[in-house]
Amino acid sequence: MTSILVTDPVIDELVAICGPDNVFADKSSRVNRARVPAPFPVHRWAEHVPDVVVLPTSAEQVSEVVKLANRHRIPVVPRAGGTGLTDGAVPLRHGIVVDVKLMNKILEVDLDDRTVTVQPGINMLKLNEELRQYGVIYPDDPASYPCSLVGGRIGTSGWSLIGGRYGHTRDLVISFQIVLPTGELIWVGDGGGRKVRKSSTGYQLKQLFMGHQGTLGIVTEAVLELVPRPEAEFAAFFSYPDYETAWRSTGALAKSGLATLAGVVLFDEWKLDYLRRDDEAYIPQPDDVRCVVATAMYGTTDEVRPGAKRLLRIGKETGGAYLGDEISQGDWASRHDRYATPLHGRLRDGQVVPMSWHCEDASINWSKLPQVRREWHDIVARLGDRFRIFDDWGMFAYTNGAFKPWGDYLTEIDVGIWEQELDDAAWDAWVTAKRDIAAVAIAYGGSISACHGACREGEVDLVPEELGGAGTS
Ligand SMILES: Cc1cc2nc3c(=O)[nH]c(=O)nc-3n(C[C@H](O)[C@H](O)[C@H](O)COP(=O)(O)OP(=O)(O)OC[C@H]3O[C@@H](n4cnc5c(N)ncnc54)[C@H](O)[C@@H]3O)c2cc1C
Repeated sequence: MTSILVTDPVIDELVAICGPDNVFADKSSRVNRARVPAPFPVHRWAEHVPDVVVLPTSAEQVSEVVKLANRHRIPVVPRAGGTGLTDGAVPLRHGIVVDVKLMNKILEVDLDDRTVTVQPGINMLKLNEELRQYGVIYPDDPASYPCSLVGGRIGTSGWSLIGGRYGHTRDLVISFQIVLPTGELIWVGDGGGRKVRKSSTGYQLKQLFMGHQGTLGIVTEAVLELVPRPEAEFAAFFSYPDYETAWRSTGALAKSGLATLAGVVLFDEWKLDYLRRDDEAYIPQPDDVRCVVATAMYGTTDEVRPGAKRLLRIGKETGGAYLGDEISQGDWASRHDRYATPLHGRLRDGQVVPMSWHCEDASINWSKLPQVRREWHDIVARLGDRFRIFDDWGMFAYTNGAFKPWGDYLTEIDVGIWEQELDDAAWDAWVTAKRDIAAVAIAYGGSISACHGACREGEVDLVPEELGGAGTS
């Protein structure tokens, strides 16, 4: 059951390129490669299922698949872990999905020049397990650490939870090989040398080929940064009686100048309410705890110990109460799995129903966080008034700048959606709300997405406005 473009002879050609075991045209293989975590009207699923899935094992095979697709004018979509939240790996026009999961080898560990060369289908958890013996890590650390893959991290230009200390994907990927939409193979980096981190030769092509959501090509190999495995990790969580105090404290902590500071994250009252109500993993706090600020530091023991003292002092002086070691260390340690836990939310009448998690993310300057927060919650409240299937799960703001965790914040609002009930009218309202959320980010001088990409229905309409406009203060 293939589309008019993907005929049996095309499948025969794909089999000749990738081998009979690595080409899938059966329904379940295709439907499984259309799955993503972002909620979507269930009754419209068939619209985005690929015609055929291939799992190549080499850059040459990827190149041949792309050339074949060009000859037959068939759309191609690369797919890595499939954890992207903005439909980048979804075959919106059917065609061929190129799943890179079998290209998952570590090709070289270079301890002299501190790099590791990998194929795009490896995940960070596996990679760091292998690197443990050498006393180094690849510090790209998203909440999706165990399940997103290097190819998808480059495709989205990912954001790392410890980016304040070690940088984000764009800072950690030194260079990579990419199959262009013509099928041609090129290598891009900072200058020509594959392990060079800074060059002034020619155009800076690496950035262009990051975060393009697979539209500019398929990454087939990458050289990544290695850093010493941190000797010490310290996390401190503070509670606050109101948002204003927590927000000011967040700014003070982020501007502390502590080089070991990996991140500061502010959870607002809606988030705390939601955790109290519906997250079984939440450790109950007294009612006067309205907001929480989480911080984390990494480095050598000699750096982290005195840094931690100063961090605790700043938290206290700015109105925070330390939440204790169990919550601080324990909650921070669960940072890679907390997202997956809330599988239910509430309707307006309090009824508990199964819900999927969706988030809208933006880059917002610290000074604008309070206004953006108010307007975003208003948008979601209006949406919930019209369609009871939406539940506001609160917001967080997370230091965003690599090596300089002040200035702008990855700002996210989480919305629970009763996906099964998402009919066309509710979906249209949701898309409009997403557009409104993006418009607020732009109006306050921010960027539609800090992290996931701005290519989903709704927000994507405003990309020309953001990039074409002069921006606001
Ligand atoms: C629970 C959860 C937590 C998350 N937390 C974070 C977080 O902290 N930080 C963050 O940045 N994101 C986060 N995300 C979003 C997601 O994990 C990231 O966007 C991630 O970078 C996607 O990687 P992936 O391997 O799953 O890629 P996919 O979803 O498979 O693909 C993502 C995009 O990259 C393209 N692509 C895939 N492979 C290649 C390739 N080889 N060459 C070129 N393009 C390619 C795809 O076409 C698509 O456009 C989270 C998602 C979930 C579900």
